[in-house]
Amino acid sequence: TKTPLTLLGLGAMGAALAESWLADDHPLTAWNRTPARAEALAGRAAVTGTAAEAVAANRLVVLCLLDDASITEALDGVDLTGKDVVNLTTGTPAEARARAGWARERGARYLDGGIMAVPPMIGVPDSGGYVFYSGSPDLFEEHGSTLAVPAGARYVGEDAGFAALHDLGLLSAMYGMFAGVTHAFALIRGEDVSPAAFGVLLAEWLTAMGGHAVETGKRLESGDHTTGVVSNLAMQAAGIPAFLDTAEAQGVSPELLAPFFSLVRRHVAEGHGDEDGAGLVDRLRVG
Ligand code: NDP
Repeated sequence: TKTPLTLLGLGAMGAALAESWLADDHPLTAWNRTPARAEALAGRAAVTGTAAEAVAANRLVVLCLLDDASITEALDGVDLTGKDVVNLTTGTPAEARARAGWARERGARYLDGGIMAVPPMIGVPDSGGYVFYSGSPDLFEEHGSTLAVPAGARYVGEDAGFAALHDLGLLSAMYGMFAGVTHAFALIRGEDVSPAAFGVLLAEWLTAMGGHAVETGKRLESGDHTTGVVSNLAMQAAGIPAFLDTAEAQGVSPELLAPFFSLVRRHVAEGHGDEDGAGLVDRLRVG
């Protein structure tokens, strides 16, 4: 028999989560603030009129609401004693840590989650989507297999803030990629270059460069930023004018690349031209 669970929140993500647990035969109790959104589950899940009733039904309670404030609103005054609360609502590490304390004060175990997937990837094996989890190791050990039903489950530590930290870290790198891709397309705009074909080239190149993250991580761990460097920062700094001149000639604002270049120049100017990108990480840290 599969673990029964409660889900609060049937938005785009919550509805996908609900379907995946139902498809895997988990008895589900669900609640949504706007009742109409729960109608699709009628006859398949136990739909309750209040959050308190849904919470009372099962020990494992999963939250997938809009933001941290909506959790306070939905669970104000609801008895959480003895519950295993898993919060998949996106938030900051600080919010997750505060939520963990909030749950503990109410006698519940707490696990925070950061969903690295969009709804169509939920419940689809090998979609590449997964969820970062952090917080109570006991809760994760006990319910890990249930939590792995919608998407892969990756536990990243006892600090409840770590799931959000990993989530935001990966998405921050994604935004760096979006910035680079935006600049690259802007360069070829107005030229006789097929954007569709160029997009394929970009995807291949970004994939080929993926190892940079692995290499940077190894260097940061070893503390050696110079041994075996193939493209040192002095060489990269020497190439910066080519990028800025070309952007200007193509009528493209340098605003997305300029901040990174200024960091590289500062690091080289302070005598670290023999390093590669790993050295920039600590330079970026302020205070
Ligand atoms: P939706 O906007 O589709 O749904 C939001 C849900 O939160 C609804 O169930 C809504 O209820 C509920 N809600 C909002 N405010 C309150 C409140 N004050 N009290 C009670 N319930 C409230 O969002 P998603 O389902 O897409 O996202 C849910 C969470 O999942 C978010 O934290 C999001 O960041 C995260 N996530 C979403 C991804 C996505 O691609 N969609 C990807 C990764 C994470 P009602 O129906 O009554 O409005």
